Amino acid sequence: MRIETLAVHAGHTVDPSTGAVSAGIHLSTTFEREPDGTYRSGYSYSRSNNPNRHALEQAMAALEGGVDAAGFGSGVAATAAVLQALNPGDHVISAAETYHGTTKLLRELLPSWGLQVLFVDMTDLGAVEAAVRRQTKLIWTETPSNPQLKITDLAAIARIAKAAGATCACDNTWSPIIQRPFDLGVDVIVHSTTKYIGGHCDMTGGVVITREPTELFERVRLNQSTGGAVPSPFDCWLALRGCRTLPWRMRGHCENALKVATFLESNSAVERVYYPGLPSHPRHNLATRQMSAFGGMISFEVKGGREAAIAAASKTRIFIRATSLGGFESLIEHRASIGGESPLTPQGLLRCSIGLEHADDLIEDLAQALG
Ligand SMILES: *Cc1c(COP(=O)(O)O)cnc(C)c1O
Repeated sequence: MRIETLAVHAGHTVDPSTGAVSAGIHLSTTFEREPDGTYRSGYSYSRSNNPNRHALEQAMAALEGGVDAAGFGSGVAATAAVLQALNPGDHVISAAETYHGTTKLLRELLPSWGLQVLFVDMTDLGAVEAAVRRQTKLIWTETPSNPQLKITDLAAIARIAKAAGATCACDNTWSPIIQRPFDLGVDVIVHSTTKYIGGHCDMTGGVVITREPTELFERVRLNQSTGGAVPSPFDCWLALRGCRTLPWRMRGHCENALKVATFLESNSAVERVYYPGLPSHPRHNLATRQMSAFGGMISFEVKGGREAAIAAASKTRIFIRATSLGGFESLIEHRASIGGESPLTPQGLLRCSIGLEHADDLIEDLAQALG
């Protein structure tokens, strides 16, 4: 099946008891036992598993081409479950530019558990190779990166991880459908389903997907039921509903973003545009090989730095000033002033999540905001 068909049908069943075509939301926390003590459908208690979470996990595994998936209450809970599957003394190599919540977990929470962490520039393969130690168990990638849209060569990093006997993980939150990490040798994919999967900025969740059955994934599964950071049935239902339209929404986000990025590059108030779909992006060729489209996220620097950027963002009428991404509505954000952001983020940088409005309206809005 092609990806659009999979997205519509994966994890979908018509309810056998009512014939309902749209899946029900199973709020029940507990499930009846048969007289002999067994469970009719394998569900016993909602933290351990429930029908909505199970359906979402099946769909996410199918969409990414993996064998299994585990749903969590947020993207960072999914990330934490992968990191907590490691042992004290294990060494993690992480991209220096990752989602700030991931960096925070690696810097502030997990070192006290005995995890060793080294941050490297993932675009520098020599630096990644040089960072490998005997204890290296995990290489964590995120591409395009947040917020500077650096492109990591996933196949090359996966080869380095394999040679080191380490797991290669990819946070694919920004690029569902358009980037296929498992095809490039990545072992584990993480998504914040809060973003493109949900697609409507109305639910929080995360998922870990594995390419093969592994001991590491078994520990992620144990963390899910025993750590207990599970998503609600309603949030799983919303995320799965998002999956149904995901390939078509991604098409719209990508098409709009390329038009907006091209406009921004030609605007005299703009210093620099970060978008892998532009031929001027330093890794445009790699992005073309690795992605089937270039995503809905754009960063750009406004001439005049911090004040000029904040002033431009204050004037938009269609773009909403808010953090997060992946919804149908366009968002704009001055990244350097958000709590926890890396000091490496340029002061004049605005990050846009390009939504599903008409591209010309978005361009007109940015043109007037940039004066
Ligand atoms: C938002 C985000 C996360 C964290 O997800 P939450 O659902 O907010 O916990 C992780 N990685 C990336 C790339 C993100 O954009």
